[in-house]
Amino acid sequence: MSAFDDVIAGNAEYATGFANSGLTGRAARGLAVVTCMDSRIDPLGLLGLKAGDAKILRNAGARVTDDVLRTLVLAVYLLGVERVLVMPHTDCGMAKVTDGDVHDLTQVHGVDTRSLEFHTVPDQDAALRHDLTRIRTSPFLPKDMPVGGAIYDVHTGKLMPVSL
Ligand SMILES: [Zn+2]
Repeated sequence: MSAFDDVIAGNAEYATGFANSGLTGRAARGLAVVTCMDSRIDPLGLLGLKAGDAKILRNAGARVTDDVLRTLVLAVYLLGVERVLVMPHTDCGMAKVTDGDVHDLTQVHGVDTRSLEFHTVPDQDAALRHDLTRIRTSPFLPKDMPVGGAIYDVHTGKLMPVSL
């Protein structure tokens, strides 16, 4: 018995019907999506995509961090990405707390997280615009690359364009 028995069994089932062996690591639809780790988000499904179509970058809050920029550079120049959609979502936990709140919460567990930046989102719209600007003005990414922002509504399944 391991903590992962359920997913190992799930994979055994998945692999019996596996039909994606012909895919390459390039994004077939030329798309990268930056979204949150929220477990309600099915990035491929909600955008009408399938395996092989897009690069999916996820973190808490769908923030454009240095690591996301690093990954986008690789995705653009090595892996066929030609457009980027930044997609935060409604009811995001990162919009409900501040970094200070997180430090306080972890302290209850005896953990000092003050050396970490959590990139919490006090104003989701402002954070999204800031993150879009980070990509659009990055000296490492093509100036004419389409970069869009939209918020996914986890209660309706609908995408609300903010800046496309
Ligand atoms: Zn979230």
